Amino acid sequence: MIKNVLYSVFNNKCPNCHNGNVFKFKNPFFFKKFDKMNDNCSHCGHKFEKEPGFFYGAMYVSYALMVGWFLVTWAINSFLIKADAIAFLIFLAISIISMMTYTFRIARLFWINFFTRYQEHK
Ligand SMILES: [Zn+2]
Repeated sequence: MIKNVLYSVFNNKCPNCHNGNVFKFKNPFFFKKFDKMNDNCSHCGHKFEKEPGFFYGAMYVSYALMVGWFLVTWAINSFLIKADAIAFLIFLAISIISMMTYTFRIARLFWINFFTRYQEHK
């Protein structure tokens, strides 16, 4: 099950059939249209936005991802690199801002996968 979720999340695939794309454009750093989503799966017709405001919940996923990123980088800095706090905070700010569009998409894809299980279509 985890393998199915990770496949869908990191390949921008429909959580229901793993064939259609969720986001219209593959590149998450295409800043003008990185957030454009298909309404339905092109393969199975699964509706991605179940109800208005469905994706507000993805903000919690995004928050959890950023807390995880902070903890991992903090641990690496504390035990291996040992840079001072200002340098670490500058690195953290730059890394979070530069990953913002990617995090946005990953969080939405995780959120969709919380509510839809993969079903093999033949
Ligand atoms: Zn589908």
